[in-house]
Amino acid sequence: MITFIGLGPMGQAMVRALLKNGHDVTVWNRTASRAEGLGAKIAPSVADALAANDLVILSLTDYQAMYDILDGQTITGKVIVNLSSDTPGKTREAATWAAERGARFVTGGVMVPEHLVATDISYVFYSGPEDVLREHENVLRVIGRVDYVGADPGLAQLYYQAQLTIFLTSLSSYLHATALLKAAGVSAEKFVPYAKETFDTMSMYVPGAAENVDTRTYPGEGASVTMMGATADHIVGASKESGLDLALPNAVKSQYDRAIAQGHGKSGWPSLYEVIAP
Ligand code: NDP
Repeated sequence: MITFIGLGPMGQAMVRALLKNGHDVTVWNRTASRAEGLGAKIAPSVADALAANDLVILSLTDYQAMYDILDGQTITGKVIVNLSSDTPGKTREAATWAAERGARFVTGGVMVPEHLVATDISYVFYSGPEDVLREHENVLRVIGRVDYVGADPGLAQLYYQAQLTIFLTSLSSYLHATALLKAAGVSAEKFVPYAKETFDTMSMYVPGAAENVDTRTYPGEGASVTMMGATADHIVGASKESGLDLALPNAVKSQYDRAIAQGHGKSGWPSLYEVIAP
């Protein structure tokens, strides 16, 4: 028995999955027409939606939308699972706001786009009170794998944003690399197998770099900062020659320059961490 508020592409996909798995779902959405055709019970008002069930799942543009919808409503005794994105600070504030009104609050970050919700690769980071999450895990498991990351309500969004940091910068770097080749007449299609090879091998560097960062020791055998910094400089040069936007290669070069200036020239590349998080 679930109340679901927020029927954008994500909310609709989640409601469809919950219904398909036999759950009883009551929905409410600001734009009422988006609730039609899903097969869920449609609540005529927010108050009716809240009165229908104790478990309330939100999928909204941001946390302000939650206040716009729930401020002034009675949420005492409800379990609110907010799967909307926002900053970790906003999610922590919201947990306090809900607790002050007698609700139990779990935050979540959904890690797949709407067409992959409820598939084998779908997963969601959750944080907040673990006992509350576990109480409703059988429902939430329908949306995707349940990955509980800790009691701090901000953690789910931090994990979400950490993953998206890798994702967004990787997308930009892939496009920059493609543009370098396109400038010389090489099609994007021709570069595909090589780009895929690099994406596949990238993960091999992660465990070693994690150990370096956790111990703050950066042995320099292999890829030193000086050597990698020279490469970063060559990429700026190649991008200039090709008439490309320099924002991305300059940002990377700047990290190497500053690591060298701080005396990390002979250290391994993970010592860039000292520039990123001084
Ligand atoms: P949308 O922004 O398309 O839709 C969100 C919902 O929020 C709609 O139902 C909208 O209502 C409602 N809403 C927004 N502002 C208000 C408000 N002030 N008052 C009342 N309702 C409001 O988001 P998505 O469905 O794409 O995503 C939902 C969340 O999931 C977002 O936080 C997003 O970052 C996250 N996410 C999205 C992914 C994606 O691929 N789309 C992937 C992973 C996470 P109305 O219909 O009336 O406009």
